[in-house]
Amino acid sequence: MSALVVWEGPFGKAVAHAVRRELDDVVAVERGMHGDAIARADRVVFVSWRSSDAAAAALADAANDAGVPFFPVQLDNRVMVIGPLFGHGGPCYRCFRARYLTHAAGADRQQLLWKLYADDASAGVAGFTPSMVRIAASAALSAIAAESADPTVRWFDVLTGDLTGSEIVAIHACTGPHDRARNRGERFVTALEALLEEGVDR
Ligand SMILES: [Zn+2]
Repeated sequence: MSALVVWEGPFGKAVAHAVRRELDDVVAVERGMHGDAIARADRVVFVSWRSSDAAAAALADAANDAGVPFFPVQLDNRVMVIGPLFGHGGPCYRCFRARYLTHAAGADRQQLLWKLYADDASAGVAGFTPSMVRIAASAALSAIAAESADPTVRWFDVLTGDLTGSEIVAIHACTGPHDRARNRGERFVTALEALLEEGVDR
């Protein structure tokens, strides 16, 4: 099993190194440096020091296009958000994002944070403990070894130690991760039709 671990920030780097210590066939790279490694991996893991929606979405799309299961672990303030393991038969990243916003204390605030993180690579949650690294690495190792996609996302409060789980149910009209390429084509045609109509009207 060959795994690609893409990391972001000090926490992500520490987790990537912890995973590498446990497995031989692991490539660990900082975000943006993975090149074409996704296509050669059996699993893609993303570990970030922040709730890094834009980066996670891009990696989820690339992994989906390559047919490789994708597993994110992200620190969102005091909560470590673990999973789900995206893959064939499970919800897509957009379903996860929609469900995530329903759990967020304030959806507007969450989206502002996502925008900040997309715009500023230096913004994140700098602090972490060794136990947080062990928990994230353990989750990543389990996802790397997993046989199939798992829609469960876990929320670990790093201050209280509370761990809760929730299953990401696909939102209405989701056609699943592996139909995304087809959907993208349909969206393109729809947009093109609208543009052509505008052109005719002029
Ligand atoms: Zn979906």
